[in-house]
Amino acid sequence: MKILVTGGAGFIGSAVVRLAVARGHDVVNVDALTYAACLENVASVADDPRYAFEQADIRDRVALAAILERHQPDAVMHLAAESHVDRSIDGPGDFISTNITGTYELLEAVRGYWTHKGSPEGFRFHHVSTDEVFGSLGAEGQFTEDTPYDPRSPYSASKAASDHLVQAWHHTYGLPVVMSNCSNNYGPYHFPEKLIPVIILNALAGKPLPIYGDGSNVRDWLFVEDHADALLLVLERGALGRSYNIGGENERSNLELVRTLCAILDQERPLNTGSYADLITFVPDRPGHDARYAIDPTRIREELGWRPSVTVEEGLNRTVCWYLGNEDWW
Ligand code: NAD
Repeated sequence: MKILVTGGAGFIGSAVVRLAVARGHDVVNVDALTYAACLENVASVADDPRYAFEQADIRDRVALAAILERHQPDAVMHLAAESHVDRSIDGPGDFISTNITGTYELLEAVRGYWTHKGSPEGFRFHHVSTDEVFGSLGAEGQFTEDTPYDPRSPYSASKAASDHLVQAWHHTYGLPVVMSNCSNNYGPYHFPEKLIPVIILNALAGKPLPIYGDGSNVRDWLFVEDHADALLLVLERGALGRSYNIGGENERSNLELVRTLCAILDQERPLNTGSYADLITFVPDRPGHDARYAIDPTRIREELGWRPSVTVEEGLNRTVCWYLGNEDWW
């Protein structure tokens, strides 16, 4: 396939780009190169004849139409987004603009391209979203694909809106879409504003390791390369108009997660005295902080035969070692 990936210079998008090229697909990476992008993330494929890069903003429909016309993709995977919850609280405008208006402009550009080609049934538009659209869980229960949407942050509300637009373009215009909602990702190339890289890099610098509230918030952690694998599977085999929840089956409280990272660092880069865990510092909670997310991955497991291949212990080890070995990147 020739796949156009939006946001392919970001954390997850670049994992998708690297994996798709490795599997023999042609890839066109469309990215505006915001603060969150890094072309180093795709340096390993940059010279591959199957890879092309186009700098464009998904809010620019004219530019998107020209790129689609030039490259003639068989599928679009849409990952470009503003993605950091804390930034969405400080300044929601970019989230509304990119995640909602940008998705609308992209859908319209893709619809024009698809219609012009004679509305091929085999075309796919894969919208990549988050489990945060489902809101917050108590101690029990998991999100299924039928859980009602209940977003609580500007980020998750903007992603929820984009999910609804994609469904509407499928039902109203017949655009062949598939969708996925994934839990928290981690792994190499994670931008150093997110929890896991913040903890690793602060620990190495001897700085406090900030944990919101009492650290009891629970997330379901998925290694980014497993997510990329699931995304390509959903693209190739997912049923039209259907959404798939993708999870790691690795629930951890933030405090447990940070303690695990400290234990790995104690092994890999021991301090002269004490443990990195001595640097743990509780800070005032994020406003509206969702208590718990958990994914029920039954649909993707039973319909597409997918499950994560990396345990959280193995994935965190690989992640810490990657940051230790790639100081130039961070
Ligand atoms: P990221 O912030 O690392 O990367 C986003 C990329 O999109 C960047 O390269 C950025 O330059 C690009 N981008 C932003 N605005 C753009 C615009 N207007 N036009 C073109 N490009 C633009 O994000 P990520 O963590 O890799 O997330 C990718 C997608 O996966 C997002 O849609 C996000 O909602 C979703 N998701 C993320 C997670 C997670 O844990 N990180 C979990 C589930 C779903």
